[in-house]
Amino acid sequence: MRTAPTILHLDMDAFFASVEQASKPSLRGKAVVVGGLGPRGVVATCSYEARVFGVHSAMPMGQARRLAPHAAYLVPRFELYRSISEQVMRLLRELSPLVEPLSLDEAFVDLEAGQAARDADSARLAGVKLRADIRTVTGLTGSVGLAASKMLAKIASEEAKPDGLVLIPPGTERAMLEPMTVRTLPGVGPATGDHLRRAGITTVGEIAEAGEDELVRLLGKAHGHALYAMALARDERPVVAERETKSVSVEDTYDVDIHDRVRVGVEVGRLADRCVRRLRASGLSGRTIVLKVRRYDFSTLTRSETLRGPTDDPAVVREAAARLLDSVDTTGGVRLLGVGVSGLADYTQEDLFAQAAGDVSEEPAEEPEAGPVEEQAPSPAERRWPAGHDVRHAELGHGWVQGSGLGRVTVRFETPYSEVGRVRTFPVDDPELAPADPLPLVSPVVRRPGGEPVGPSGGGGSARRVAG
Ligand SMILES: [Mg+2]
Repeated sequence: MRTAPTILHLDMDAFFASVEQASKPSLRGKAVVVGGLGPRGVVATCSYEARVFGVHSAMPMGQARRLAPHAAYLVPRFELYRSISEQVMRLLRELSPLVEPLSLDEAFVDLEAGQAARDADSARLAGVKLRADIRTVTGLTGSVGLAASKMLAKIASEEAKPDGLVLIPPGTERAMLEPMTVRTLPGVGPATGDHLRRAGITTVGEIAEAGEDELVRLLGKAHGHALYAMALARDERPVVAERETKSVSVEDTYDVDIHDRVRVGVEVGRLADRCVRRLRASGLSGRTIVLKVRRYDFSTLTRSETLRGPTDDPAVVREAAARLLDSVDTTGGVRLLGVGVSGLADYTQEDLFAQAAGDVSEEPAEEPEAGPVEEQAPSPAERRWPAGHDVRHAELGHGWVQGSGLGRVTVRFETPYSEVGRVRTFPVDDPELAPADPLPLVSPVVRRPGGEPVGPSGGGGSARRVAG
């Protein structure tokens, strides 16, 4: 392992929600929840103000609404998030050729490979400058972790959140990890966490104390070895620039082997849904569906199927996983099941629109009473107004959809550079109203030859400009 804290992990703070707050002045400092608004939707990201109420990523949207009924609920605008992500990733690539994106808003950077840093002082400087540059270019905050390994850099950025920087000085890693919960370590989910707890192990220090043999006995060879090494802060994984090999997967180990074929099918469906939630939370989609089955005798099979195009549709992933299960003999019992999606791609624009429109159409944002959810297909006009998306009114200018339903659409007229704007309601087929492209979060200052810098047109109120 290297001796200098020159691996950087960047994680943007509440990324999707922060983008929405930056583009909508009326939502700054407010609880904002971004995700699928349909009956089966989940939270993709929520603002820190919403987290106070207990809302978190991957939570079913219905539960979020009960916890934070007054929050703003918005349909994701992945096209915008992706363009901002590209700005951030460009800044990272200026630091090093070795940038490993984990999602739209998260990446590892090997500062040493880019000669951006060689010791703790230069690494800290690079991190401080990066955070300032991100703020200037995007108007958003990101948290930075610096350490001598990927695992520790990620733990450091988590500690730094929100809007901070944490550097773990080499030599202090083990002392820092010791009191932390086992769940801090990568690969320790609820199942492994429970398993360890039953063996009396709750902290990272207790893993180290238990020793390697005990860990292997508890968790099997591969997982046991890996976890023991991580507990000692040993992590040699390099920062890898390409992402083609990346996949999102989830798996569960069962305390008692499952024999019932129907139950196996139910579990696979559940894992497929969980996998899709993680995929969506990262703003990704993938083409290859993978099923993993470990049988009673520890023989492990994987089966995969490659689709024609990338998907993040839970029904598609569930069906593919069920087809794959059909080809596996589970009569002796199953001790582990997993579902993964690989061949990841960012959302294409077309997918996004279809998905966003589909999500919002299932539940008008201004449902009058807590009656049954309207399952009827909405009119094409209602499909055009997903909550949170931009619109332009012929007379009143740029705004965003605050809600729609019952043949009406409510628009708040404001831009990223304006004061909090006013709200107006229109018939959904008002000819003066049209969907619009998002505006950049930071006012692009246009210099006309020999003239004064001018902000973008279309915004009411005063322009908020960022120097440079
Ligand atoms: Mg983040």
